[in-house]
Amino acid sequence: MSTLIDQKQTTYYNLINGEWTESSSKELLESKNPATGEVVGYAQKSTVQDVEYAIDTVFHAFNTSDWGYNPKRRYNALLGLAQKMEENKEHLARVLTIEQGKTINESRGEIAGCIDTLKYFAGASRTVFGRSIQLESQNFGVIAKEPIGVVGIISPWNWPALLMVRELAPALAAGNGVIVKPASLTPAISVEIFKLIDQVPDFTKGIVSIVTGPGRSIGAAMGTSKKIDMISFTGDTSTGKTIMEMATSNIKKLALELGGKSPNVVFADANLRKAVPLIGRSIFNTAGQICMAGSRLLVHESIKHEVIAGLKQYAENLEVGNGILETTDMGPVISQSQLDIVSDYIEMGRKEGKIVTGGYRLTGGEYDKGFFIAPTIIDELSSSSRVVQEEIFGPVLAIQSFSNDEEALAMANDSDFGLAAGVWTTNLNRAMKMSKAIKAGTVWINTYNRNFPEAEFGGYKQSGQGRTRGIDGLNEYCETKHIHFEI
Ligand code: NAD
Repeated sequence: MSTLIDQKQTTYYNLINGEWTESSSKELLESKNPATGEVVGYAQKSTVQDVEYAIDTVFHAFNTSDWGYNPKRRYNALLGLAQKMEENKEHLARVLTIEQGKTINESRGEIAGCIDTLKYFAGASRTVFGRSIQLESQNFGVIAKEPIGVVGIISPWNWPALLMVRELAPALAAGNGVIVKPASLTPAISVEIFKLIDQVPDFTKGIVSIVTGPGRSIGAAMGTSKKIDMISFTGDTSTGKTIMEMATSNIKKLALELGGKSPNVVFADANLRKAVPLIGRSIFNTAGQICMAGSRLLVHESIKHEVIAGLKQYAENLEVGNGILETTDMGPVISQSQLDIVSDYIEMGRKEGKIVTGGYRLTGGEYDKGFFIAPTIIDELSSSSRVVQEEIFGPVLAIQSFSNDEEALAMANDSDFGLAAGVWTTNLNRAMKMSKAIKAGTVWINTYNRNFPEAEFGGYKQSGQGRTRGIDGLNEYCETKHIHFEI
């Protein structure tokens, strides 16, 4: 494994009111490569004062421009950003990998997802309209869609480009002004995308700002600000609950994309040749740090040994290392604290179940510079185990087996979360029944982790509130007004 840093250490500024701005704190956050420990760049450690200034400027831009009522302009702006990202896609992918740790191929996929999302919502910006309805006698109503106003977007570190763009694109398409606060661990990739926004003249000056810094201070200032009309939050369920409490200050609208503990349910009639590698990928992609990771495997007892043997082989064949190398299959986890959290869960799993493979930190040579964990599979866990119930956010697969469909369904739904599920069967009736009965926002049949800008995504139960992507995702960022005509 070699150490590769392909850019000079950069200082990143906030973009506020169309100007690159230093924080009033004059302090910087250090962004580090989780594979090597090297500094990737420095970002502003912004203060509450900086955020309040940004909110005021977005409010001003929203209220004094035609942004909210000029869909063509928004279409041009979003398409312009898609074009800029296309021109810079390899640079963006490399920054994403050296800052987040994921493999360069995962990063290329994430940046391609951003571009596709921007193109979809550029088009959708020209379809933000309601309907007219005939009411009593000659009366009729117009149901109009309007922007909400100033939207705060708070994003996580695991998919920092796509999960920011996934919200930024519909929020802007609907005509809102936006302030983004990216995760403190991944400011560089977020600001790199804002550098491109700054190059697109169709964005109204000041309509979109980025402010980097700690969630507990500046994220909380956004959550409590009475000048922000809506918060779109993607992150941990416990932080989501805190944001819900904060939002009561002015009954802010909320869109919450939270955690998951998603099952892959494998029946005896499944096509295992297809299922095994996709299930492996569903948990080891981005070192398991994905909200919709297939972190639970529920497998029919008759095929259990075959499936586990296949997954063990898959896990042991993965090349774990620095994600910038084309040959790497799985990168590190993001930080020392994430490594500690995942290691604690592995120790719990060792006591409560049986380690099939992995179960340790990778050490020696280049591994000592980063936060690498061997892909880990734990079998013989009971439903009450914390390893089965809690989101680990690391490369750890928890396995349980079932003997019939009713038991499989009960196990799949035995969770506080309801983000996604995979169902593997060649029986159409079974696939239909399971897809209807599983309480999750997405159910994939004979595949996993297939997402599209046009298909709604979001959580049942404690996995979230509202929907992102698709037309529902656009409508999350709209107010609905009934205008009544009496003639
Ligand atoms: P996190 O909740 O720790 O942080 C998310 C963001 O919230 C960061 O920008 C952080 O700075 C900010 N924040 C932290 N405390 C805050 C506070 N008190 N007030 C306001 N903002 C605050 O989450 P994370 O560790 O960055 O991301 C991992 C979590 O995100 C996992 O639980 C994962 O499942 C979830 N996630 C969900 C989805 C989805 O679409 N449902 C997608 C990706 C990640």
